[in-house]
Amino acid sequence: MKLFFSNIVTSFLNIVMPGRCLQCGRIVYGKSALCATCFSKIYFLARQGCPRCGRPYDLPEDEGMVCPVCLTKPPVFHTLRSAFIYNKFSRELILPFKHADRTDMTPFLGNLMYQAGHDMLEKADLIIAVPLHPRKLMKRKYNQAALLAHYLAKKARKRYLANTLQRIINTKTQGHDNAEQRKQNVKGAFYVKNPKQIAGKRIVMIDDVYTTGATLNECAKVLYKAGAQNVDCLTIARVRG
Ligand SMILES: [Zn+2]
Ligand SMILES: [Zn+2]
Repeated sequence: MKLFFSNIVTSFLNIVMPGRCLQCGRIVYGKSALCATCFSKIYFLARQGCPRCGRPYDLPEDEGMVCPVCLTKPPVFHTLRSAFIYNKFSRELILPFKHADRTDMTPFLGNLMYQAGHDMLEKADLIIAVPLHPRKLMKRKYNQAALLAHYLAKKARKRYLANTLQRIINTKTQGHDNAEQRKQNVKGAFYVKNPKQIAGKRIVMIDDVYTTGATLNECAKVLYKAGAQNVDCLTIARVRG
């Protein structure tokens, strides 16, 4: 009965205060959602692609086979999963969440990430976000990866560990750098404050976008050095690669 009334209240609220599509502003049913047109433009990645890095590629008969990139140069982390491909459309969807205070998008993006990575989240002991340098955090006011990590930890009923992995170098924004420049840029940028909290733990690292993997690989490197048993990564989006 209680549920029945709460459904009526929700329906009523949707009529008097309709939700808006997070991308185009069109009226939609429910809060924190996309309209059907915008939704259809997303290239979802759940359950396809390379079992290591999630790169979309047609798997041969043997489903356990990794992509050619991981075969020649396996990532430092164990597995990466992303909710969707980073392209022109998804870039516009993510940018306001990153830079324009659209923190209300956290549940929408977090739920899509949960769908893509619930297997790794279930096995995890700790959820950690890629940290921002304190100076950058002051400027931006919030760390978008930390919002998602906190949301996902709550949803998966796991421990969210803040402040243990720290960014000690305020690296420059990596916009147009190539893979090697990005790798050099983040080298030595991270530090584990209390390795005891990491030792023997299965960790899921959360970030917004995976491009060359330089940041997540560098984080995984220091976490493994601190004794982590396993480091997986979960992002909103990844480049097709
Ligand atoms: Zn829309
Ligand atoms: Zn791969």
